[in-house]
Amino acid sequence: MSFPLPPYADLDLQPLAGHWRHGASPRQLEVRDPYTDQCLLSLPLATREDLDQAYQAASIAQAAWAAQPPSARAAVLLRAVELFDQRREEIIGWIIRESGSTRIKAEIEWGAARAITLEAASFPSRVHGRIMESDIPGKESRVYRRPLGVVGVISPWNFPLHLTQRSVAPALALGNAAVVKPASDTPVSGGLLLARLFEEAGLPAGVLSVVVGSGSEIGDAFVEHPVPALISFTGSTPVGRSIGRIASGGAHLKHVALELGGNSPFVVLADADLERAVHAAVVGKFLHQGQICMAINRIIVEQPLYQAFCERYAERVKALRCGDPSDPATVIGPVINQRQLDGLLGKIDKARAEGARVLVEGAVEGRVLPPHVFADVHPEMEIAREEIFGPLVGIQPARDAEHALELANASEFGLSSAVFGGDLERTVRFARRIHAGMTHVNDIPVNDAPNAPFGGEKNSGIGRFNGDWAIDEFTTDHWLSVQHGPRPYPF
Ligand code: NAP
Ligand code: MG
Repeated sequence: MSFPLPPYADLDLQPLAGHWRHGASPRQLEVRDPYTDQCLLSLPLATREDLDQAYQAASIAQAAWAAQPPSARAAVLLRAVELFDQRREEIIGWIIRESGSTRIKAEIEWGAARAITLEAASFPSRVHGRIMESDIPGKESRVYRRPLGVVGVISPWNFPLHLTQRSVAPALALGNAAVVKPASDTPVSGGLLLARLFEEAGLPAGVLSVVVGSGSEIGDAFVEHPVPALISFTGSTPVGRSIGRIASGGAHLKHVALELGGNSPFVVLADADLERAVHAAVVGKFLHQGQICMAINRIIVEQPLYQAFCERYAERVKALRCGDPSDPATVIGPVINQRQLDGLLGKIDKARAEGARVLVEGAVEGRVLPPHVFADVHPEMEIAREEIFGPLVGIQPARDAEHALELANASEFGLSSAVFGGDLERTVRFARRIHAGMTHVNDIPVNDAPNAPFGGEKNSGIGRFNGDWAIDEFTTDHWLSVQHGPRPYPF
């Protein structure tokens, strides 16, 4: 595996409070390639003092950044888009090596991060306030929209570049400063690379800091700190819940955007095109080894198609190529780390023990877990109830469309979902009854568009990313009323 190295050198330095320097902790973080287990980089961790300095500097730098004219902020974002193009291979190379992504997935991730950067470049000229009439004589109501101030971003390892950038790009475009805590598995693609890119694009020093530290050590301090007005978190539901608690129960109330776990149902109605549905279910499940919050977690098939679906699906899944993610032909690469792999092996054992019927299985090689497919899954089985986040899935039979809907909605999560059907309007009516933030008709549940609202219901989170929704999320309203003449007060 080769990619141009090292255009961005010194990746063991962190942009902290306007300076590239080492984290002050005596402890080192080793960043490893999940496939080869090779150590890619070793860097000293940041401490709570580093974090405090980053927040303080961000707070100071933010005012001047917000005061820059809209076109100047847009220009930085547009220059960043150019750098995405110029450094495409380097960025994709890091995503492959640091997160075990296949080339297919790394290219998709690069494209998504570039797209939200381009979209965010339009935000400075799209954000606007309002003027409203008032019932009070001589009064005028104005609503000014302004940046929140400093935004804290915590991102996961599965789509590190994109899931960091989809908060950072809008936040910066709208005049905020940002401090990022990337996942410990992916500090480069989840933060350090983006900071190099923004610096090269002309972002003033201090507006963006990246703090590399473990969530369990600096996570609470990151959220509790008085400076950030919003914590934008993407990751697991338990950690998200705890962040929500701290953000609302600590000394400093703050906004939260929480993008958490999912359990996407993929429903195949009796009049669906079987081949199209099977193909979609393969891609929607196994892209990035299933480590996607929107990935198919439950396949629900209406009885008349059930047997045929199971057979065709098993046949296609068995043909997926597993192994080295840097080989462009590989579809299934490694799981991110040993802990996740052990968890997935436990889920496979549990599915067997609970009586699910094995359709596809295979032996682990290194960190590569070949696909596992189970049929005759019941909604009470763990494989149906819990988020899987790996290359395994269960298929459930549904008696009819109403039963399929009941099964689809039988989850604590409500992020994404998909339904295949022949009669389009009937399928759309079905889709509208799914309780989720996102439902895709005749497509995979894995979809992200820079101008469409991305987010979940129920335990999948709070808030929406992208487009106008990101403009709302990363700004706040300031109501000003102006009393033009004397007001007739009641006393
Ligand atoms: P996670 O623990 O929630 O990690 C996500 C981010 O939160 C990482 O940057 C992590 O830092 C940080 N973090 C951890 N504990 C924290 C705390 N107490 N305070 C503040 N930040 C904290 O998720 P994970 O361990 O990577 O994966 C576990 C499960 O989360 C997965 O199996 C999957 O179910 C879910 N997940 C969902 C998504 C999604 O996009 N919805 C993405 C990834 C994972 P460290 O890396 O330093 O721990
Ligand atoms: Mg963790």
